[in-house]
Amino acid sequence: MMGEKLKRKYALTDKGLRNTKVGAAWTVVVNLIMMAGMGILYFLMLEYMNTLTEGAALPKTWVFLVLVAAFVILSFITHLQQYHNTYGLVYREIKDTRITLAERLRKLPLGYFGKRDLADLTETLMGDVNRLEHVWSHCLGYLYGAYISTAIIAVMLLIYDWRMALACLWGVPVAFLLLFGSRKLQKRASVTLKAHVLAVSDNIQESLENVREIRATNREQEYLDRLYKKIDRQENTMRKGELVIGLFVNGASIIMRLGVATTILTGASLILSGRIDFMLLFMFLMVITRIYAPFDQALALIAEMFVSQVSANRLNEIKDTPTAEGAEEFKPDGHDIVFENVSFAYDDHDVLRSASFTAKEGEVTALVGPSGSGKSTCARLAARLWDIQSGKIKVGGVDISTVDPEVLLTDYSMVFQDVVLFDDTVMENIRLGKHGATDEEVLAAARAANCDEFVERLTEGYQTPIGENGAKLSGGERQRISIARALLKNAPIVLLDEATASLDVENETKVQGALSRLLRGKTVLVIAHRMRTVEAADKIVVLKDGEVVEQGSPAALLQNPQGVFAHMRALQSASADWHI
Ligand code: ADP
Repeated sequence: MMGEKLKRKYALTDKGLRNTKVGAAWTVVVNLIMMAGMGILYFLMLEYMNTLTEGAALPKTWVFLVLVAAFVILSFITHLQQYHNTYGLVYREIKDTRITLAERLRKLPLGYFGKRDLADLTETLMGDVNRLEHVWSHCLGYLYGAYISTAIIAVMLLIYDWRMALACLWGVPVAFLLLFGSRKLQKRASVTLKAHVLAVSDNIQESLENVREIRATNREQEYLDRLYKKIDRQENTMRKGELVIGLFVNGASIIMRLGVATTILTGASLILSGRIDFMLLFMFLMVITRIYAPFDQALALIAEMFVSQVSANRLNEIKDTPTAEGAEEFKPDGHDIVFENVSFAYDDHDVLRSASFTAKEGEVTALVGPSGSGKSTCARLAARLWDIQSGKIKVGGVDISTVDPEVLLTDYSMVFQDVVLFDDTVMENIRLGKHGATDEEVLAAARAANCDEFVERLTEGYQTPIGENGAKLSGGERQRISIARALLKNAPIVLLDEATASLDVENETKVQGALSRLLRGKTVLVIAHRMRTVEAADKIVVLKDGEVVEQGSPAALLQNPQGVFAHMRALQSASADWHI
């Protein structure tokens, strides 16, 4: 289907495609009317010539006036329609596209956002859509309209006088052949450019995010040098790209205009040999001033049209990524989490191999294992942040891959190392745990998580803004906010990543009380780092290289002195990191 192809090529919505077609249709009408204007002029000239040469009566002035008035009115109305259907409606299309993309992003598995960095996604939502907007409004309707109207006019001219028509029109297809021939070259230039632009913005973002580390390690110059090099590279690519595009576009424009010369030459020789009269040449000369006009605007932007396909592809990539869908209803029977032969890979990197275990409601299940063995991954999968490749994960008997992630997550509290905080007050950051929670509820949760202690020291207490991603807070403070959130939410499943670094011993004891209140009666899956937590757990699941190598109660596992857990414990007993 032609329509489908266009839609993909320019990343249009259904409505956008329809508008483009209507815009093109109005462009055809406009171009034909403008050409008809030339026709009026020609026939008037013809009349006056007759008066001069054969002494015929002058045509009446009112006929002339009516014709001109009709032309002006029609031309005004059709231009208005063309404008409305190309420029006017595009703003709706941009909005629709951004909303569709945002909706799509909302439904993509959360893990997707780890794969494509944020600079890249922002560039797609803002930059790419803007670039396409320009093409949608300035090019698409005009160019396709121009193709059609020129074809109609060409047929009419060919019927009228094929020799003159050829002399006048040959430049159009040749110019377009040249342009389309150069398309690959132009596209390649723009893909390279895009990569360089992204590299620059990545570098800037990275420098800003890591400004502390960069200063601390005295590496400013190194970073700047790298950035300058990338900017230079971007500039060079840009210049080269512009040159390539300029050459081809101007070349095409010149070729098209060579048609004027060939028309005059052909016309002159046909007049000399007596095969046409002067008026016919005059008519073709008038036509030729109009025939290229519809292409002028489109031609100036055709390079942009080719380039925009890179943007369209990036939009399509988001549209093509499978979303994590599911039922809007989640009615589990209890909240036991069951992993059944779960295998999972990030892209092609196998992480879990046929892992099976159960985390029972009302129990604390500790995931234990060396770094990189897949503990965090298990926790993420349990909340459907990623979709698994094979096996099944059930919560209360319901396969979680059948439940809408947003709905599913209402039953989860997560206290992870990388707490996400927003540039808002402490109060609002905690309130995120439960939509519409009252101030009293928020404060109670904060108190229970021992936030009072550090909030009191802030200038405006709970109303203090905490800076972007909690820049003004320490690791331990951030984690306490995260615990307060979880307490407020009071969800039946708690996923907990024990970050050894975040809490010092004193605060840990203070938070411990809040934590045990949070965990009571819930299904708790904890990524354990401390031997104390592990020993207090009801059940231990030992992971190694993505496989469950042992599971059971701590006491049961210690019975087997050859087991991995017993071995780990023996090793860790000697280590100061493990508070036993
Ligand atoms: P653990 O929590 O036991 O340290 P993880 O579950 O974090 O282990 O990681 C298991 C493996 O998966 C590691 O090899 C890690 O490099 C890889 N991994 C973790 N997260 C990602 C990700 N977002 N993309 C690709 N690989 C990842």
